[in-house]
Amino acid sequence: MRQRRLRPPFRAAGFTPRGAFATAHHNPNRHARSKPCPKLSHPLPNPSAPLRALCDLCDLCVHLPLPALPSPVPSPRFTFLGTGTSSGIPVIACDCPTCTSDDPRDARLRTGAALEWTDPDGKPRALLIDATPDLRAQVLRHNLRRCDAILFTHNHVDHTFGLDEVRRFNAVMQAPIDIYADAHTLDSLRRVYRHVFEPEKNANASFVARLIPNQAHPARPFHLHGLRFTPIPLLHGRLPVLGWRIEQAPGTSPNPSGDDLFPLAYCTDVSGIPPEAWPLLDGVQTLALGALRFRHHPTHFTLNQALEAAGRIGARQTWFVHMSHEVRHAEVDPTLPEGVRLAYDGLILGPS
Ligand SMILES: [Zn+2]
Ligand SMILES: [Zn+2]
Ligand SMILES: [Zn+2]
Repeated sequence: MRQRRLRPPFRAAGFTPRGAFATAHHNPNRHARSKPCPKLSHPLPNPSAPLRALCDLCDLCVHLPLPALPSPVPSPRFTFLGTGTSSGIPVIACDCPTCTSDDPRDARLRTGAALEWTDPDGKPRALLIDATPDLRAQVLRHNLRRCDAILFTHNHVDHTFGLDEVRRFNAVMQAPIDIYADAHTLDSLRRVYRHVFEPEKNANASFVARLIPNQAHPARPFHLHGLRFTPIPLLHGRLPVLGWRIEQAPGTSPNPSGDDLFPLAYCTDVSGIPPEAWPLLDGVQTLALGALRFRHHPTHFTLNQALEAAGRIGARQTWFVHMSHEVRHAEVDPTLPEGVRLAYDGLILGPS
């Protein structure tokens, strides 16, 4: 038998490849062969495989305790996890005033958000909007401990390349995660994350995210844990993308109501709002809207274009996201009209 290096808990228990069958069931850290791993819900390997193969599926199985249950957060709570354009700010190798700024509001991770709320049964829920390449840092910064769903806006790298990180949520929740995206984005995710969507083709059984793909259709709402989500058709240059309208599901008793937050519309990476989208933006209280920079861009609203759209939507509060390094927070934010602000990383909306 080929010798391989064993992880510390196995060594501590005297667990060696030669003695695997003899000692494994005496190890209190080890889950029984006949049961799924209690800490990760990965499928059981081939039943005839050696016992140690169970924990070869993941690095975390016997090492990490399950985290404490999330403590209640004020609900609903909307967090801007990142507010920067695709490069992130500071931009690599740039010495401009924004990239060298001491103002923490000028440091922008890639644009994404989290919504935490309490469902009608009193259970804490959380979802992500997009999975940015900075997702791991964003989740750790905000101590997010669960993810019930991910809403995708579109397939671009700055909105999808953190998806691998959510496997840890699978582990701590012992459940798969529903993802919602349009057909084009789902196709792209299946191609890029083939190891996740077709795990049977991986050379080794691996610890990969467990995701349930759901196709989202513009203007066709669905309900999830007491909230209603409506995909909004938007244009990002020539690419159709989705914004998301989020509000209390009709007939549910809110906990608490979220009246000051909902309806909330999240519309990043947008350069055009087609006629059929306007009714879906009706009555929005909170608007997150992409506003890249001052100069024209073929696939993003400029600040002026975003201001024009924000004025027409008329939300009580509008927060710009996806800014480039041409937008320095302290210079630009005070010049915006009442009710419109630049968002910044870590900004939290909702009851305090
Ligand atoms: Zn983007
Ligand atoms: Zn710069
Ligand atoms: Zn984009």
